[in-house]
Amino acid sequence: MKKLDEIAQEIITCKKCKLWQTRTHAVPGEGNPNAEIMFIGEAPGESEDKEGRPFVGAAGKLLTQLINEILGLDRKQVFITNILKCRPPNNRDPEEDEITACSPYLDEQIEIIMPKIIVTLGRHSTKYIFNKMGESFSSITKVRGKSYSWKYKDKEIIVFPTYHPAAALYNPNLRKTLEEDFKKIRELTKTSKRYTIDYFLGGQNRPRDKGKESNSNSS
Ligand code: SF4
Repeated sequence: MKKLDEIAQEIITCKKCKLWQTRTHAVPGEGNPNAEIMFIGEAPGESEDKEGRPFVGAAGKLLTQLINEILGLDRKQVFITNILKCRPPNNRDPEEDEITACSPYLDEQIEIIMPKIIVTLGRHSTKYIFNKMGESFSSITKVRGKSYSWKYKDKEIIVFPTYHPAAALYNPNLRKTLEEDFKKIRELTKTSKRYTIDYFLGGQNRPRDKGKESNSNSS
């Protein structure tokens, strides 16, 4: 299996889609290779493109604050990345051909890290992961704030969708919701047994269906 550094090197020189032509720096992602929590956003923005690091602009500052103050963690303890590793011009939405070209890097990162929890930030990364789970995606508003079990390889990963921090920057209501979601994520981290989902299913020994939604966070 490749290492995260090897994947990052491939990304930095990648020309698999048209976005290489307009990027300043590719942004592979960063953090702990053994992270229990992996955050997946949409794509680098202007600040990230300049620095070659994920979530370092205004939205990144909010994400970092939530990680520090609500989860009680440092950014170095989690892994932060995006579906697309290069910035789309003018921060437009990712296009399907770009996601198809770039997502194998994300898949490899997930496989190496095998986090306990994947937090998808916003509709694009949530839709991508839900497709992989075989779960139907309607809108981020409908699916956010709940945990879902993803049987991946022979492991269980908890997928927790929430809003992209950029959406909450100038909207106090969304920011409050985002903070509430992070409190739920904090609760999810408290279970000590990695890959066991019974905790998230309320200890009811409910069937471990692929992509089945937990009932422990429906409040
Ligand atoms: S967005 Fe992804 S696939 Fe496209 S050039 Fe950048 S690293 Fe390669």
